[in-house]
Order: sequence, then C-alpha cells, then structure tokens
Amino acid sequence: MITSAQLFELACRHIPGGVNSPVRAFKGMQRPPVFIERAQGAYLFDVEGQRYVDYVGSWGPMITGHADPEVLSAVRSRLDAGLSFGTPTAIETSMAELICEIIPSIELVRMVNSGTEATMSAIRLARGYTGRDKIVKFEGNYHGHSDSLLVKAGSGALTHGEPSSPGVPASLAEHTVTLPYNDSEAVRECFAEIGDQVACIIVEPVAGNMNCIPPLPGFLETLRAVCDEYTSVLIFDEVMTGFRVALGGAQAHYGVTPDLTCLGKIVGGGMPVGAFGGRREIMQQISPLGPVYQAGTLAGNPLAMAAGIALLGKIRQPGFHQALAQRVDTLCDGLSERAASAGVEMLTQRAGGMFGVFFTGQSRVDNFAQATACDGEAFRRFFTGMLEHGVYLAPSAYEAGFLSSAHTPEDIQVTLDAAEKVFMAMARL
Ligand code: PMP
Repeated sequence: MITSAQLFELACRHIPGGVNSPVRAFKGMQRPPVFIERAQGAYLFDVEGQRYVDYVGSWGPMITGHADPEVLSAVRSRLDAGLSFGTPTAIETSMAELICEIIPSIELVRMVNSGTEATMSAIRLARGYTGRDKIVKFEGNYHGHSDSLLVKAGSGALTHGEPSSPGVPASLAEHTVTLPYNDSEAVRECFAEIGDQVACIIVEPVAGNMNCIPPLPGFLETLRAVCDEYTSVLIFDEVMTGFRVALGGAQAHYGVTPDLTCLGKIVGGGMPVGAFGGRREIMQQISPLGPVYQAGTLAGNPLAMAAGIALLGKIRQPGFHQALAQRVDTLCDGLSERAASAGVEMLTQRAGGMFGVFFTGQSRVDNFAQATACDGEAFRRFFTGMLEHGVYLAPSAYEAGFLSSAHTPEDIQVTLDAAEKVFMAMARL
C-alpha cells in the first residue's frame, strides 16, 4: 500500500509544493497532507483506507454530502452527449433561470469557471460601469487570486503570510483600498474622503476566509447606504455563503441587497463553476450586449450545469437550511461544552451551514486583527489531534468549516467524542 507521505513526496517532484492549491499543503501542520481516494456522504477515505468525518466538503460545494447519487446521475445522463460544444445549450438557460429565481437581486447572470473569475469579472464590470478605478475591500476577506484582489487577502494568502503577493504590480494594488472588516465608521470615513472615485465595494457578507466571522448588525447596511450615496456598486462575494447561509445566500439571511453577486462552489455541485450576476442595468454592460469584455471557452459547460442544477434542486426543499443550521448548532455547542470542561479557551461562531472554531479567550471575533491574535499552536494541536481521531477539518485556522445534510447525529457525536479526547490532551500540556 502506498501511503499519503509517499504520494506527497512523489507529488513534490513535479507539482509546486505537491499541491494544485496552496491551502491543501498542510503548511505549518508538521505532517504531510492526506491523499484522498474517494468520498461518500459525510466521509472521506484516504489512500491508506482510513475514514474521516469531513468538515471541508471540497471547500463548500458538497452541501448534500460527497458523491450525491442525484448529482452523479445528472452528470452521467449528459455524459454520452459530449463534454463541451462551445455553443449555447438549453441547460445554461435552465441554470440562469434557477439562479435568478433563487436570488431575486440577480436579473442577468453570466457563468464562469471559478470563484476567482466571478469576482475578477464583477470588479471589471463595476469599473467599466462607473468609469472609476478604485475598489474597496476588507482585510482578511478573500476573493480569489486576481491581481486587484490579492491585497491583504485571507485564506491561503493569509495562512502563508503573504497577504500581498509578489507579482501584483504596485500600480494595480494602489487602486485597492483595504479597510477593517465590520468597521462601519472606517467605511464612512473612506467614502467621505474618496467616495466619488470608488467603483465598488466587494465584501464577503459572512467572512469565511479568516475563519468564520459574521457581519455585525449594521455593517452590511452601511455598505449599502454608502454605495447608494456615492453611486458605487455593492458586490457581495457569495462564493462561500451562496446557497449555504440560507438558500438565497447571505443577502436573504441579512436582508441587504447588493448590486452584483458572485457565486461559486455549490452552484457547480463540485464541478469547476462560478457565476456573477445582478442588476440588469449593470449586467447589460457585459459583452456582447455592452463594452465590458468577459469570456470563457468552457463557461456554462453542460456537465457542470447538470451537476449544479441537480444540487440546487435538492437544497430547495423546504426546511433544508434550517436543519443544516441546527446541525451546526449541535456541533458548535457540543464543541464549546467539551472545551470548557477540559479548560481549553475556545470560541465558535456560525452562520447557517458554516462555522468557525477560534482558540481565544475573547467572547467574539469580528475582524482580521482579532482572528490573527488567536492561538495558532492550539489550532494546530486541535487539527492534528482530530485528524488522528478520524475527523477532517480545514488544515488552517483561517478557514470556515462546512457541514452537509449527509452528516448524521452519529457523525456529530463521533466528532464530539474525538474533540473531548483532543481537548483533554491539549489541557494536559
Ligand atoms: N471568493 C470567496 C469568498 C472564496 O471563498 C473563494 C475560494 N475559497 C473564492 C472567491 C475563489 O474561488 P475559486 O477558488 O473557485 O477561484
């Protein structure tokens, strides 16, 4: 049997760092990453035959569990017709109708192949529509790796300690203004100074790339208000929160309507898909209707559309998101109880189907500075301990956790039993 450690060594020969996306590398975790062979429901199975209860869910898409039979069958039923045509297909219209129905602020929508493309294109559109260059984003929010957005970013960029990547021209980065998350006052001050130069605000309406940080009451409302006042475009990056925090995303959950929305992850059911859409008047500026150029050879790929439509169909069932949020509550409350009885300082935060675990004595974590002040070594011990007990968490203290409808009460119990042991071991040190 070949082990994960051996496979990682082989991978490192020809793949930078052995991985095709940095956060997979388990950097700082003092062990090689686990190589997964297959997955089913709430479980991942590694190449050594070990089973894990999975709280990563392919970083979000697997909201009904891995290898969902209905999603797989939808893909299978399209397979023999061919993989891609580079022409319009009816299934793209079905997807567009579905998205516009579920998220009413989206009147027109364009499919792309990743979250990065969705945010990059939305930013270009906002700039083209307003004729302004500056964009406002928030410290620790991650919107993919396009140049304008890799300034003080979260996720892997944060884990790896390079919030501003080499290779991003200073002349581009200078157009990106970064403000502290959840700081309405900073937003108002910024707009009072340069509001008439700002093309857009882009925000994760629940931050999921510096752990899980929900918006403080009034924060999203302030963003809406300043964008209205200064005719800037409000972009919600709902790549993570879309169809997860609520069916209609964070905008439905918090009742604040953006001008543009970026989607990814769930919308592709695990296939490489992103989308951006919003107000007709703005989206009409996109090529071929308007002058703002945006394109994709494989965009709207029929297999990817089939997977996404099947998944969205499933999660539209009444009560789906309520049940998911209840599971998140059971998990988070259980973790808090066990940490407290072991004497480990830990805090959980949650929003619908996503959650975060912070090793801190603080009662809330609302921004990047507070998230990075948490105990990284305690997280490392928790992560590796849980992995040894068959629970797969995101290998970084700066990523949100995801639950699926395939996680049974027994899976959550297994997780809590493991956490109890790990917390006790942490407390003994
Ligand atoms: N926006 C957000 C909020 C994300 O979480 C991510 C990825 N985790 C992206 C954009 C980029 O998506 P992708 O990795 O598909 O390019």
